Amino acid sequence: MKFNPSKARPFSCSDADGFWITVQRRSVAVRKNDRSLPMREDFCGVAGAEPLLAGYSEGTEFYAVSLVEEELPEHLEWVDLRDYIQRLDPGRRSAIARAVELIHWNREHRFCGACGKQTEIDSKSGARVCPACGMEFYPRLSPAIIVRITRGTEILLAHNRNFTTRRYSCIAGFVEAGEALEECVHREVFEEVGILVKDVRYFGSQSWPFPYSLIAGFTAEYAAGEIRPDGEEIDDAGWFAANTLPDLPPPGSISRELIDDYIGKFKV
Ligand SMILES: [Zn+2]
Repeated sequence: MKFNPSKARPFSCSDADGFWITVQRRSVAVRKNDRSLPMREDFCGVAGAEPLLAGYSEGTEFYAVSLVEEELPEHLEWVDLRDYIQRLDPGRRSAIARAVELIHWNREHRFCGACGKQTEIDSKSGARVCPACGMEFYPRLSPAIIVRITRGTEILLAHNRNFTTRRYSCIAGFVEAGEALEECVHREVFEEVGILVKDVRYFGSQSWPFPYSLIAGFTAEYAAGEIRPDGEEIDDAGWFAANTLPDLPPPGSISRELIDDYIGKFKV
């Protein structure tokens, strides 16, 4: 299923016919009975619900919905966003990623950062615009990289201190202003595990709502150096063979796609 993003546009509740995506902190609202995404009829009567068109897929529209109250109707519940999107097809995952961005953007740019006046949504550009000084505020997007490093038949996997499990994954980090994606790959790898890499190649990308990320995936070959975890983000890292891998990220993330691609090539 392919998702097509639309320019953000406010709708009245009665016209917003489609899926209603609403999030709070790290949870998304779903129907209790089958954990499907709610639709307009599920939110009838919820005061202050503001749907914004996020995009569409196969003739169905997706709305990003800001709720004034965190209280949901009886038959809906909050579930963990990360767990939930892992079970979805890429199109629906993208729809949720966009809706999360729009909800945050709509909440965080109500006032102009330059002059302080209240902003308004301009449906043409999809920005929140300041009527006083003309400043435009678009949904925030933070580019990041993730890289799978191999040394012959081995893969480098690292444990991030912020992971709540013993899971190991690829090296990742946010791109700095003034930096190309490939430069970011070299810098992040050196900063986090102290090695040099070569043959950096683009693999694919993923929109990821934790937070506002567009993650560009790369593969690279080991070039030189000894693994030295930085101790700040990475507390352990090592070379693993395809048959003796540690706990991995769950399916549905680009990190897992990179690792599965490696497993497909080297597992015997
Ligand atoms: Zn302004």
